[in-house]
Amino acid sequence: MSASLTRPGTSPDSSGLDVARIRSEFPILERTIHGKPLVYLDNAATTQKPRSVIDAQSGYYEQNNANVHRGVYTLASEATDAYEAARATLATFLGGVEPEQIVFTRSTTESLNLVAYAWARRHLIPGDVVLLSEMEHHSNIVPWQILAKEVGAVVRYIPVTPDGTLCMESFRKLLTEEIRVLSIVHASNVLGTINPVKELVREVKKVAPKALTVVDAAQSVPHMKVDFPAMGCDFLAYSGHKMYGPMGAGVLVGRPERLDEMKPFLGGGEMIESVTFEGTTFARPPHRFEAGTPNVAGAIGLAAAAEFVMDLGMERLREHGRELTAYAIERFRELKELTLYGPLDASKRSTLVTFVDHHIHPHDLATILDQYGIAIRAGHHCAQPLHAKLGIVARARASFGAYNTKEEIDVLVDGIHRARRLFGHGS
Ligand code: PMP
Repeated sequence: MSASLTRPGTSPDSSGLDVARIRSEFPILERTIHGKPLVYLDNAATTQKPRSVIDAQSGYYEQNNANVHRGVYTLASEATDAYEAARATLATFLGGVEPEQIVFTRSTTESLNLVAYAWARRHLIPGDVVLLSEMEHHSNIVPWQILAKEVGAVVRYIPVTPDGTLCMESFRKLLTEEIRVLSIVHASNVLGTINPVKELVREVKKVAPKALTVVDAAQSVPHMKVDFPAMGCDFLAYSGHKMYGPMGAGVLVGRPERLDEMKPFLGGGEMIESVTFEGTTFARPPHRFEAGTPNVAGAIGLAAAAEFVMDLGMERLREHGRELTAYAIERFRELKELTLYGPLDASKRSTLVTFVDHHIHPHDLATILDQYGIAIRAGHHCAQPLHAKLGIVARARASFGAYNTKEEIDVLVDGIHRARRLFGHGS
C-alpha cells in the first residue's frame, strides 16, 4: 500500500526526541483530511498547538479570567500574576533578560512596526540609511519603506547570492556611517538560510555606532536556542503562533536603554503614569507599549509554548529539524526536474525546503497534495521582491516541526510522484 494512505510511522532520529509521544500531545494530528491522515508541513506559516498550550489558555478562561493590573479582588490579582509570570517565563526563554524587556505584541509584524514607529520615526533624519536584506519578509520591508518615505530616509538591501545566502562582500560595501537601522531576518522563511546576525550587528556597529539593530526571529526562535543578549542586537521580534503557541500573541524584546528611548505607539489605558485634562505622563516600558486590555490568555499560552519547547530541549529540536531538512533535501534531489532553493547544507538552514517542480505549478501541486492529506504552502511567501529578483512567481514550501517525521517526508515525495503522474509526467 502506498505510504500516503496510512498513518505514517515515527522512526527515531539522532535528536533523541520521542516524536511519537510529541505527536500524541497534538490533538489535531489525529485528524484525517479527505479520508487520509493529516501530514502537516506548513509549520513556517503556523504550527499546531499541543494540549499544554490549549489547556493553559482554556484553564485561564475557566478559572482566572479578569482584567489585569486593575482590580483588587482575587481573580484580578490571579490574572495579573499569571500575565506577569508569562512575561518572566519568556524573559528566561530568550536568554535570561529582565521581564521588563519583554513587550507583549500581537506578532512579529506588530513588533517590527512598533520599533519602526516608536523608535525610528523619532530618531531618523533625511539621508539616514535603513539596511535590510533581499530575503526579508514583507513585515520587515513595508514598515521601513513607509517610515523612509515619511522621514526622507533611504532603504538599502544586502543582496542574496544564487546559493541563497547573503553576499557578505556586498554587505561590507554597503557599510557607511549613515546607517541608522539594520533590520535583518535570522532565518529566512523562503530560503531557510540562517544569517550570521551576530556578525552583521557587530560590523554595522563598528562603522555606525548609533545604528539600531533589529532581528526578525520569527523562523528561528521556534527551532533553535536564541540568546538575545548574546546576539548583541537592540531588538528582536517573534510570533508565538509559529512556536506551538496561540495566534495573536507575539513578543518584542529590547535593550532597556532602547526601550526607554521609544515613544508610545498606542495611547490609552494601562500605558500611562498619570493623565490630566492637560496632558499625560507615560508608564515605564514594557507597559508604555501595552495600551488597553492585553491578550492575557495569549500571553499565558505563549509562555506554555515556551515551556513546551524548553522541556523538549532547544538543542534536540534543532537537531531534529536539521535531520528532517537534510532528509528532505536528500529525497528531493532524487526527484529529477525539480529546483530546490537555499543552501543545500541543512546545518546552514532552518527547518524547511522550498522548491519548484518543473512541470507543475506550486498551487496545483499544493491542491493535489491536499487530496492526499498533505498540507504544504504555495505562493510568494510574503517575499515578493525576492521572488521578482529570481524571476519566479511562486514556490512550494514544506516546513517541519517537532512532530514531523521522515515517514511524512516520504509521503510528501510519494505525493509529488502521484501529482506528476496525474499531469502526465510519470516519475
Ligand atoms: N518574518 C518572517 C521571517 C516570517 O516567516 C513571518 C511569517 N511568515 C513574519 C515575519 C510575520 O509573522 P506574523 O505574520 O506572525 O506577524
